[in-house]
This record gives sequence, C-alpha cells and structure tokens, in this order.
Amino acid sequence: MKLTKVGSAALMLLCGMAAAQQITVRAGTLIDGKGAVLHNTTLVIEGGKIVRIDPSIKKATYDLSTLTVMPGWIDTHTHIAAYFDRQTHRASHLKDTPVETAILSEAENAYLTMMGGFTTVQSPGSFQDKYLREFDMDPIPLPRILTSLNPIMKGTPDEIRDQVRKQVADGADFIKLFATKSIREGGAPTLNQEQIDAACGVAKKLGKRVIVHAQGPEGAKMAVLAGCTAIEHGNYLTDEVLDLMVQHGTYFDPNWGLLLHNYIENKDRYLNVGNFDAAGFDFMQKGIPVGIDTFHRAMAKHVKMVFGTDGGAGAHGRNAEEMVYRVRDGGQPAMDAINGATSFAAESLGLQDQIGSIAPGMQADIIATDGDPIADILNVRRVVFVMKGGRVYKNIHLAPGESSIVLGPNGL
Ligand SMILES: [Zn+2]
Repeated sequence: MKLTKVGSAALMLLCGMAAAQQITVRAGTLIDGKGAVLHNTTLVIEGGKIVRIDPSIKKATYDLSTLTVMPGWIDTHTHIAAYFDRQTHRASHLKDTPVETAILSEAENAYLTMMGGFTTVQSPGSFQDKYLREFDMDPIPLPRILTSLNPIMKGTPDEIRDQVRKQVADGADFIKLFATKSIREGGAPTLNQEQIDAACGVAKKLGKRVIVHAQGPEGAKMAVLAGCTAIEHGNYLTDEVLDLMVQHGTYFDPNWGLLLHNYIENKDRYLNVGNFDAAGFDFMQKGIPVGIDTFHRAMAKHVKMVFGTDGGAGAHGRNAEEMVYRVRDGGQPAMDAINGATSFAAESLGLQDQIGSIAPGMQADIIATDGDPIADILNVRRVVFVMKGGRVYKNIHLAPGESSIVLGPNGL
C-alpha cells in the first residue's frame, strides 16, 4: 500500500495519541456542517467527542488557525471493494479474486478515502465489507464503514423479504436494492411495485434503511411510493418523480460527476468488463449532460440531495472530486455541497446525532483543508488534517498549489 506524505512510522506515532485525553483544536475558519461559519475558535475534545466550542482557548493541541476546519466528510455511496488488478490493471471481478487480495485492496481503498477527508463511508455493497468494518477501530486508519453486505436484485416478493431478513441477520447496516438496469443499459425497471414494496416494507419493520439503484423514472417512482430511503444515481428522473421525492422526503444521491468521468477516464481498464461495452460508454458519455440537467431541476425543487460518488476502481482517494463536479459543473453553491457531504449525509444515514456536524456531543470527526472550499471548491483537494473519533490520522503541510490527493498504485 502506498502511504501519503505521512510515512507509516509517523502515522503510527500520530495514531498513538490516546483518544481519552482532552485535546483542543484551534480553527481559523470553522464550517459547522449545517451552514454556519465561525472564525478563530477552539474545539475541546474528550473521549473522542466534541464537548464544547470555546473561542477563549487560544493555545491548542492542534493549531489549525490558518486552515478551514469542518466535519469529516461522508460518502453515502462508494464501492470500496472495487479495484484495478495489480497485474492486468483492469477492473476486477471479485469472483475471480482470491479473498485475501480482495480484502487488502479494499483496505487500501478505505485508507485512501479517509486520507482524502472522508471519515464515514457507506458501501452498497459486498459481503467482504463486513470484515473491514470490524477493523473500524484504533489505530488502523479506516473510515467508519456502513455496509449493505450483498445487494438485492431479484426474487418474488416473499423471496425478497427473506433476502432482506437474511442480510439484516448477517449484519447489514442497511439494504441496497437494484430497481432498474444500469445507465449503460438504459435504466429500465427490473422490479415491479410489489417487489419493491416487499423490500422497503420489511426493511422498515426491521429498522433498516433501503437505498435504491434507480436510473430511470419508472423504477425511482416505485421506490419513492414504497417508502424507500434514497434514490441512487437517478440520472433520468422526471419532474414528476422529483416532486414525489420532495413530498415523501426521499433522499437523492445523484452520480453524474466522479462516477461517469472516472469510467470514461479509465476506459481502457473497464472496456469489455461486464456491461462496459462500446454502447455502454456511449450511454455514459451522453448521460453526463442529462445528469446535470436532472441535478439542476432537483436543486430548484429542493430535493434532499446528499453526497455520494458511487466510486469504483480509480475513484478511491479522490471522492472529493464529486464536490468539484457538483459545484463547478452542476452550479451547486459550495456550502450546499459541503452540507450534502456532512449534516445532510449524516441525516440520510440516521446518524445525525453522532456525525456530520461540529457541535457539543458529536463524534470528533474533524478535517481541515488548506484553503477555504467555500471560496474555491478546488480546495477540497487540499485536505491536510484528518481526525476520527478524536484520534488524528493525518496532519501534513502542503506547498501552495499542491494537491493532497493520493491514489493507489493503479490510480490515474
Ligand atoms: Zn453503486
């Protein structure tokens, strides 16, 4: 695994800080994750949580007075199990991969993602996430991991209910349901209303959320009516479906940015793997302006949009690029993009009382960028400080103009 500027020895030293002691973080600029900005204040952290914000404390354990401090970012949809094979440099199929290779590659992806500023990820999903999730503990530098384990794709309503129960019994944090074909195949529905009702109905009874892969409007509409939690991708959503999402409070995680650009930039590594054929790439290329149009309409209607990359191989470590796409190409205000990756994302995961904002009682998941992303969204590429649960995992300096993004050995 390639480490960042923080070498492995230094990293272990940083990780040696005990989470239980009181530590303080002085912030020059503080974005709280809910739209407020404070200046020249200090966070007091005990037992891994923020206990108070006290501007009178000027001498802090960590002096970030020249930086912009904010909650650790949350990627509500990233495939940390996906990677490029080290020999072929091609996208790998897990079924062809020895489990030890797959898990080590996933750990590398999770590590790079955290160094990129993401202290929580939601992975929908692969069964092996379970093993990595168990290591979400000190001192291994991994983000908090929520996983659906295996996704649910087909079956009679009764079979689907059984699959949901099994995933939950096996330890799934939430359910991932495929309701339509992929963008490479046009996004038509693959399940009917009864099947989707079955999945989201039983999950709700079990206290679990369901996020639904839906590219086209028909599948998305059924998912909204079934009371599912979130629509993923949704490239072709109509105004009717967006209005329904507002009415039902359904979250929307649009993914025309990093996802599609990453596939296109890495075309030679994906071409002819599964449904990544020439026609599929054509669909994806044409899907970018369509996705941007949908994004504009969703913003205008105030659909609850959260940050998610749907990142696969090639995207890990540069998840924050999705914010650049949303702000620069999608016209989203930078503060809304950051809220989408912090408090809004936490709310969509049902974790708003623990993560996603900076306030007393919240987990001390704190990052800092050298440069304010509200002033220039490109500063999301300059993550110099990462703390999770009160423990510091990254604390570096960057030269002017230097990026903090570190990719795996097969990254771009
Ligand atoms: Zn996905």
